[in-house]
Amino acid sequence: NVKEKGKSNVQIYTSSMNNTSLERFNLENDIRRAIENGEFVLYYQPQINTDNNEIVGVEALIRWNDPIKGLVSPSHFIPIAEESGMIIDIENWVIKSACEQNKAWQNEGLPKIPISVNLSTRHFLQPNIVEMVTQVLEETGLAPQFLNIEITESMSVDIDRAITTLQKLKKLGVQISIDDFGTGYSSLNYLKNFPIHKLKIDRSFVRDIKKNPNDAAIVSTIISMAHHLNLEVIAEGVESAEQLSYLNNNRCKIVQGYFFSPPVTAQQLQLKLLKNNFG
Ligand code: C2E
Ligand code: MG
Ligand code: MG
Ligand code: MG
Repeated sequence: NVKEKGKSNVQIYTSSMNNTSLERFNLENDIRRAIENGEFVLYYQPQINTDNNEIVGVEALIRWNDPIKGLVSPSHFIPIAEESGMIIDIENWVIKSACEQNKAWQNEGLPKIPISVNLSTRHFLQPNIVEMVTQVLEETGLAPQFLNIEITESMSVDIDRAITTLQKLKKLGVQISIDDFGTGYSSLNYLKNFPIHKLKIDRSFVRDIKKNPNDAAIVSTIISMAHHLNLEVIAEGVESAEQLSYLNNNRCKIVQGYFFSPPVTAQQLQLKLLKNNFG
């Protein structure tokens, strides 16, 4: 019994607490402090239409600017924020900030493109998620078609609620993408029933596209399935011209990856939008 929760809800430590749970405890407290102190920042990665090399979307990706550790990657703290429930406060900040930023770019006269935010399954399945999104759009003045919500296949753990929420979001006018497609509980049944707009092919399939025939087959199959279902398809993690040519030859035009740009600051993304051409 290394960690006890007293009646006052104060967490008590004992010396028998092992390293892992100690680290975890510290990390949880640090995340809580980071929320209070506003230590999170958003980076933005462009999504490119390779027909004309224009930016057709941008994904907002969170980083934690810790005063001591510097920029901390989301893979380090998102899982713990999810388990502890702090993800909801964090992502409410993410959605608000991303919508504000997109509206600010539009006000500058830059090309109007949708901004994508990642929503954890836990947050997506909250009863008030649609009201929350509605309120952010109202407060920021961003038109709903310029917000894209990325969810993962794990939202299908509660199919009824997922469908209801997706239908409400669709009615509201926001776009929905399935992120990391192919890595979760893939069921073709929900592709048939879920009102979504885009599939994002996970980068683990893109990585070895030129070396591994199975990956190549999976990628070309996802692309053609998306076309048949009238869904847009985006490839993640495109790093090389060879990967890009395979994707293009298989009719996937929209890509995201280091080949074009890593996630960058708002200021850097604004410069790219100003040129809006990677040719
Ligand atoms: P994701 O949503 O699949 O985002 C794409 C990740 O791939 C990003 O990592 C991005 O930097 C990385 N990436 C993009 N292009 C390339 C490439 O060409 N090569 C390689 N190797 N990587 C590439 P990042 O920013 O570290 O984010 C990791 C994950 O953290 C995201 O994966 C997403 O699942 C999660 N995440 C980020 N922000 C949020 C958030 O606000 N809420 C939630 N729930 N998750 C978030
Ligand atoms: Mg994503
Ligand atoms: Mg992804
Ligand atoms: Mg991924």
